[in-house]
Amino acid sequence: MRLLGLRYDERSSHLRGAAAAPPAIRAALHSGASNLWAEDGTDLEGFLEDLGDVDPGTGDAALDAITAAAERSLAGPALFLGGDHSVTFPVMRAVARRHGPVSILHFDAHPDLYDRYDGDPHSHACPFARVMEAGLARRLVQFGIRTLNGHQREQAARFGVEIVPVDDWDRWVPDLEGPCYVSFDLDALDPAFAPGVSHREPGGLSVRQALRVIHALRAPVVAADLVELNPAQDVAGVSAVVCAKLCKELAARMGKLSA
Ligand code: MN
Ligand code: MN
Repeated sequence: MRLLGLRYDERSSHLRGAAAAPPAIRAALHSGASNLWAEDGTDLEGFLEDLGDVDPGTGDAALDAITAAAERSLAGPALFLGGDHSVTFPVMRAVARRHGPVSILHFDAHPDLYDRYDGDPHSHACPFARVMEAGLARRLVQFGIRTLNGHQREQAARFGVEIVPVDDWDRWVPDLEGPCYVSFDLDALDPAFAPGVSHREPGGLSVRQALRVIHALRAPVVAADLVELNPAQDVAGVSAVVCAKLCKELAARMGKLSA
């Protein structure tokens, strides 16, 4: 399983800081406070091939740099560490070039379907509008959503996005068919579990509710991202530890499903 950090937060609309996430997640992953075993019995020691970080620069060239870096990482399953959520569209371009349109499971408090945000079509509030327009997804299922406004409700209907209702968070079983992509925005979780994000949205998922769904994935996951940790907003590093946990469980599940 390849691990690549994308140190990019230029498209974050409210606060910067997510570019500092990859080293913080790596430090939590390798901290002596825990081990590298996932709950399913996978030992991730030697299983994670860390490709280090990419600083893609600024402007529209940054998006192309992210796509190029992602393409170089996709010989096998890969896990990308953001960065703000704008990295998902350029990563998905690389994924679709290799695998064709994929099924996407998107964890987030926000649907990220804005046509434009503050005039920017590539804002971190827009990646899934761009993904759907470009035909990079066969299906987009969103989990953890609790901030729909009128515009994004229209966008969801226009693109045929499936949003798992809050009442189903404890019982929904992923029915995606492969190849799949998992995009995990940390603010899908309740800020009580992960306060280190730029947009704290109460009423979110517990870590266990998110893990239940990850563990229930049945189709091959060819790539995933974990985005929007903002270490400057974190409290005693607890959110970085949550990211490390999500990395371990996602990587182990991806490894099992691709085996
Ligand atoms: Mn979000
Ligand atoms: Mn997001």
